[in-house]
Amino acid sequence: MYRFYINKIQNCYHIEELIRVFIKDENFEAISIDADIFKYLYLRGNSFLINTSGSSEMDVVQRELYNLLTEITGKSAEWGIMTGVRPLKIAFNVYKETSSFNLMRNILKEKYLLSDKKISLLTQIIKYQIKYINKSKKNTVSVYIGIPFCPTLCEYCSFASSVAEDNYLEQYIKNLLNEISYMGQLMRENRASIESLYIGGGTPTVLSLNQIKRLLEAVKNSMEIDIDKIEFTVEAGRPDTITSEKLQYMRDYGVSRISINPQTMKDDTLKKIGRKHTSDEIKKAYNLVLQYGYKVINADIIAGLPDESFEDFVNTLNEVLTLGANNITVHTLSVKKGSKLKENNPDFFRRNSEIVNKMLDYSRNRLVSEGFYPYYIYRQKHQIGFLENVGYCKPGTHSLYNVRIMEEMQTIIGLGAGAVGKIYYPDEDRIERVPNVSNHIVYNKRIDEIIQRKNKYYGG
Ligand code: SF4
Repeated sequence: MYRFYINKIQNCYHIEELIRVFIKDENFEAISIDADIFKYLYLRGNSFLINTSGSSEMDVVQRELYNLLTEITGKSAEWGIMTGVRPLKIAFNVYKETSSFNLMRNILKEKYLLSDKKISLLTQIIKYQIKYINKSKKNTVSVYIGIPFCPTLCEYCSFASSVAEDNYLEQYIKNLLNEISYMGQLMRENRASIESLYIGGGTPTVLSLNQIKRLLEAVKNSMEIDIDKIEFTVEAGRPDTITSEKLQYMRDYGVSRISINPQTMKDDTLKKIGRKHTSDEIKKAYNLVLQYGYKVINADIIAGLPDESFEDFVNTLNEVLTLGANNITVHTLSVKKGSKLKENNPDFFRRNSEIVNKMLDYSRNRLVSEGFYPYYIYRQKHQIGFLENVGYCKPGTHSLYNVRIMEEMQTIIGLGAGAVGKIYYPDEDRIERVPNVSNHIVYNKRIDEIIQRKNKYYGG
């Protein structure tokens, strides 16, 4: 057991996050102490005292700790002392302060200890965003509507998604339409104008055609939407939920961006991770969707799925490129608490980091050579190798919603179970989270209270 006594830092959360990159949870303890006590500490074996100088700056303490951890374990970390979900936000702020990519590079290297590879990735993304994405306008908002149901549950799923059953879906839709209608009224009163609308999940296309019609009509009738101007995305994650009628209806209603997510094109893996469709069905879904004139087709793929080799991943990427996706999001598998994979294999996420690193390097080189640009990035807990997810797009086809949610400079209205709204206060450059409940049964029970809360947070 390693013990790290941290002087003068009361909240050890960021310290623990960094230690976790190097050492398993059950093998370390981080203990906050005060200078008066540390004089009397008798350190033995695997016990270490950090921050003897008593610095109150977290990055100073983290760098000292990082150097110690690399010495103890012989490992290093691509993301240095950055452990958060939004590395781009930090890098972009440094760029805004310095107006220089050279100075940004030096700061990311020396202060945050980032590898050259990650600095170059962040630089590419910032350059894309500067060139193609404007700042969000005052009074614009993004809207997220959650449909927390899927045909089956994936082994690695840690979202509050449930298997779709007709009676659950119907009750959920009724309550969701009420929430949409109430929020639409508040948005009109506040003169909020929608920049992007994202229906995600779960798998929204698990809804019947009739339910999709009612949902889109409620959105259009309740909210002030200039359908030709906004970005309108629907996740159609699983190919076994897609039909011509649904695609036609959604396109006619102004959906411009659709996401069909193979995750892998290897049938054995699809079975292993709990999906009930084949790679052939994915191909058919792509051929179908191409007929309806969606401006953007996104494909999510995952590096590090159980038993997948480098060649399997390369094959998936090749196939997805051939199918015609113009947005490709490359995820690193995250094995979070609550997933079956984590239950069955608690240390899965610590393995395979070398091969996953190779997969990510390959995907970046290959996609850039195919004319894609990395345009957004985020990290999750328990990702293999503590790596990242990167969204790539052909120029001009990026998802504004994905960018806004990461930069945290716009109000996001979250509707439905599992949705997390965020209110942005520009004067203070601060975000306040407004989470809805995540479980659909609890959502149905507490719908009145959830609607009332909307008034409290978004009312005039
Ligand atoms: S498709 Fe996504 S939300 Fe649905 S079960 Fe799989 S990981 Fe979970």
